[in-house]
Amino acid sequence: MPRIAVFGGVYANPYALRALLDDARDRGCDALYCLGDLGGFGAECDAVWPLLLEHDVTTIAGNYDVAIGRGDEDCGCGYADPRDNAFAQLMYDYTRAHTCAPFAAWMAGLPGELRREIGGVDVHMVHGSPLAINDFLWESLPDAALAERVRASGARLLLCTHTGIAWQRELEGTRVVNVGAVGRPANDGRTEVWYAVVDLQGDDVARVDLVALAYDWRAQAASMRAAGLPEPFAETIETGWWTTCLEIVPPRERARGAFHVYREALPEVDAPGAGWADAPVTVDDGRPVVSLFASALFPPRLWVYSNFHCNLACDYCVVASSPRARRRELPAERFFALVDEALREGFGELYITGGEPFVHPQIAAMIEYASERLPTVVLTNAMLFTGRRRAELARLARRPGLTLQSSIDGARPATHDRWRGDGSWRQAIDGLRFAAQLGLPLRVAMTQTPANGGEVEDSGNAVMKNSAKLTLQNQQVQSQAGRDSKPVSSLNSPSKPKYSPKKCPKKHRHSSRCKR
Ligand code: SF4
Repeated sequence: MPRIAVFGGVYANPYALRALLDDARDRGCDALYCLGDLGGFGAECDAVWPLLLEHDVTTIAGNYDVAIGRGDEDCGCGYADPRDNAFAQLMYDYTRAHTCAPFAAWMAGLPGELRREIGGVDVHMVHGSPLAINDFLWESLPDAALAERVRASGARLLLCTHTGIAWQRELEGTRVVNVGAVGRPANDGRTEVWYAVVDLQGDDVARVDLVALAYDWRAQAASMRAAGLPEPFAETIETGWWTTCLEIVPPRERARGAFHVYREALPEVDAPGAGWADAPVTVDDGRPVVSLFASALFPPRLWVYSNFHCNLACDYCVVASSPRARRRELPAERFFALVDEALREGFGELYITGGEPFVHPQIAAMIEYASERLPTVVLTNAMLFTGRRRAELARLARRPGLTLQSSIDGARPATHDRWRGDGSWRQAIDGLRFAAQLGLPLRVAMTQTPANGGEVEDSGNAVMKNSAKLTLQNQQVQSQAGRDSKPVSSLNSPSKPKYSPKKCPKKHRHSSRCKR
């Protein structure tokens, strides 16, 4: 049974190529095939040629090799974005200047594709796709687009590279294998690089292994730095994350990486409007690209639904919560694991919501666990601060990492109760007062609608009067009335309520959760 090793995207990485040649021999491969792009990222352009010759590697041309062989002015990689083209041009100019004439001439003589029967199997080897040498065959390509390329080939096994990320799929009787790149990591946070080992038997593909290959990546990074190549290139070798040429990467593949957009493409976000918490400021670390996660567009804030039932059944509730709603309680152990995972993944805040979190029997322990590890905000209607929960709330009081967040719908019970039910305003105000007495940090919001718009200032006063007066004597009240969607008043102590009106975009109904 023939066993072949297939690789591409050598990118002037002789350290990885040597490791591959050893690895393929150890795995018993009978023949070696290279799908092109011999230069284009590393510094030692000429070093890969003797290795290919010495090990009798059957090689086809990549777009890079065609360009170098012809002496083109650019690599023809097919980038659309000017920033990608700037990085590609910088690398191409370096490669051209550091590739000897005989090697370039050898590249000029390489075939653009290879079609042969191996072990009785019709095998088609291309660099990009059967349609074009610089066509990107991503795993996320829609079936129709992949089928077009499969039909253009018609082979049982279609092998390609060019995108730099390995994958395989079976479609319309063709096994499509992108063998990845051996010269650069696959934007997966690993220093290993990828190639394919294929077993062919009878008239079929018996097995395809996509191999993660360990090699001396430190030597490759050091070589690139010594040559004065851009630091983001060397960093990619060391971290496994792509830091340039992101624009051609489709959303699904890009989302798996650590960086998602070019720094200058990240829009400014007005931090005060980004929610209760300030939007993070993106730090300029010198990389051309940034991660969306932990940026102002995607704050590192995890929302967890502790449960979906509630003591109320507000008519505007966007999750249709009520006492009869399915509970769907998150078990405490699962919640603890989520908090641990959030910490590992770099989240900086946790919001607990529901339903009403305080109907969850283990909510106090969950809040304790979370607020010891992350700044934690609990969204509550503040109506259940009674019975056993009083002792639990006392346990939670004065925790520096904890904030309770609630809302009212108006200054008068009739306004609030119209949507939330009789007696709910009084009970909420009593709950807020109790929490304030305990020293629990509170934030209170109001969604401004045509039905309650005249009560904004009175609502603020009602919250202050009922929730703060017993415990916050002589505190200064900062009035900011008249600034829509901003706090109209607040007290400057961590244990007193803050009050914020928000305009309802739907005019007659709240468009967001009552407690946000
Ligand atoms: S809007 Fe809030 S308080 Fe009202 S039913 Fe829904 S979760 Fe409960």
